[in-house]
Amino acid sequence: MTVRPLPETLINQIAAGEVIERPASVVRELLENSIDAGATRVEVATAGGGKALVRVTDNGRGMTPQDLQLAVKRHCTSKITDDLSNIATLGFRGEALPSIGSVSKLRIQSRTADSDTACEVRVSGGDVDTVRPSAANPGTIVEVRDIFYATPARLKFLKSDRAETGAITEVFKRVAIAFPNVRMTLSGTDRSTLDYPSTGNDALARIRQVLGNEFADNAIAIDAVREDVRLTGFACVPTYNRANSLQQYAFVNGRPVQDKLVFSALRGAYADTIPRGRYPVAVLSIALDPRFVDVNVHPAKADVRFRDPGLVRGLIVGAIREALTRQGDRSSSVAARDMTAAFRPRAGVAGRSSFGSARGESGYEPAMSPFRPLQDAAPTGFSESAQSALGAVSEPSARTEGQEEEAVHPLGAARAQLHENYIVAQTGDGLVIVDQHAAHERLVYESLKKSLYQREVASQVLLIPEIVDLPEEDCDRLMIHAEALGTLGLAIERFGPGAVAVRETPAILGEIDAAGLVRQLADEVAEWNDAGGLKARIDYVAATMACHGSVRSGRRLSAEEMNGLLRQMETTPGSGQCNHGRPTYIELKLSDIEKLFGRR
Ligand code: ADP
Ligand code: MG
Repeated sequence: MTVRPLPETLINQIAAGEVIERPASVVRELLENSIDAGATRVEVATAGGGKALVRVTDNGRGMTPQDLQLAVKRHCTSKITDDLSNIATLGFRGEALPSIGSVSKLRIQSRTADSDTACEVRVSGGDVDTVRPSAANPGTIVEVRDIFYATPARLKFLKSDRAETGAITEVFKRVAIAFPNVRMTLSGTDRSTLDYPSTGNDALARIRQVLGNEFADNAIAIDAVREDVRLTGFACVPTYNRANSLQQYAFVNGRPVQDKLVFSALRGAYADTIPRGRYPVAVLSIALDPRFVDVNVHPAKADVRFRDPGLVRGLIVGAIREALTRQGDRSSSVAARDMTAAFRPRAGVAGRSSFGSARGESGYEPAMSPFRPLQDAAPTGFSESAQSALGAVSEPSARTEGQEEEAVHPLGAARAQLHENYIVAQTGDGLVIVDQHAAHERLVYESLKKSLYQREVASQVLLIPEIVDLPEEDCDRLMIHAEALGTLGLAIERFGPGAVAVRETPAILGEIDAAGLVRQLADEVAEWNDAGGLKARIDYVAATMACHGSVRSGRRLSAEEMNGLLRQMETTPGSGQCNHGRPTYIELKLSDIEKLFGRR
């Protein structure tokens, strides 16, 4: 075997393997080029999920015929000369256009502001044509057709048109958030149009366009500096969280990044205010001297390396926590803290290791305590006119008089229901307060999971199908899993653009908020690509369904129903905490009560 240099086209195709993974990578590279060219208006058009066509039109500074000739050659760039440590543009590798040209049919038309005519060049599977005159407005039009036609192996790895369309939308939104002063439009035969007029320097106004008013209304502004690193952006209040991380946006010097350090710092900032498995929504923008961050880490430029990662992490965690505190999310007076400290989730009930809180006593957050001072709670007593039984939960237990139940049952005998959600029960040596909604949710979850595993889910046909409006990408994502959801008792169908129809729901859930359930599932299936295995998915769906099927607080229960709930909790594994990791009940020992009243 002799060693010889590879042909140019092959070299470019090898580079394309790293730089251009899918049509969305083309969109990213072309958008970066338009922004680097100083465009104030960029239009993206796609067809067939970007596989058939991606066209990006900008009003940037354009290229001369000489520039254009070089632009499609490998390692030719106007952006850096000899210093990799001080990169102020999005591009710098001089690889995107030749890579794209080597795997697709590429056509670039360009015209500078001071030229009367445009020029154009075509590249097909690496064959570069000569530059010719052309007709176009000042700026640049880049058209990419039949991506990967020259590398069929890669073509096979692409997902459905829908999935690729969705990925392009994501890339487009990320760039749009980073550059509010650029008017950006995304359209095509395969999608509904997005049009974001420039909002100048108003980042929040652009975020409103991209993420909707809801995020903006729940966002807290962040602006903090540590040494020479500045963090700006918006972080949501903890209650506004999502089932996946798709709505976390990070930028370093304006460059959209998927940086592990940034996302892990974000998680850390919310660690004790957002339940596990939920994700905060945030837009974080980090600005620092380009010499203190290396962007030349990965060909797709989505990762960066900070020279001082600890500093950046500390800045993010500190700034967000400080903002949340400022927002008054953690009001805690000393008295309340002392009092709630006495109320704690039980560590476990004798003889039942699976019962109790996995978080342990110290993991209990006073901020989550459902406890309210007793004097506020006028005793309601047992409701005579109890509403219909609690579905799966109601298990008419023999009505024993208090004493016996206290002694025999770890969760004691129900004495009262407060605020139509908290069951107060008397135990042998104290009292227990149960969060009825959380407990019921857990019980439904466990039994749902059981029947899901056994494939015995009965579904209930809705008399009138419920139509749920959803963003197009969410509909698409959800429909990919329609069949799987069907086997879990949830039958959904496409209902025109931007909507799905729910025809059947799992019977065990009773009357449910089908729209809420479907919206949340749409979020969650987005995570499924990464999540492993059928079991994990079933657990996920069961948890989501249980949450939407549960009796919300506000239902009066009879004594029998309350005791039924307590007894079922005692025999159900894991019922000491709800599906969000919060305790379903707390216990106060008589000795604690005595302490509170200064008797000890
Ligand atoms: P890089 O962006 O890393 O320089 P590219 O292959 O993406 O490499 O582009 C090569 C060169 O072509 C750029 O450096 C730039 O000078 C020119 N160019 C590409 N796209 C545009 C555009 N939309 N407007 C003006 N010039 C462009
Ligand atoms: Mg580029």
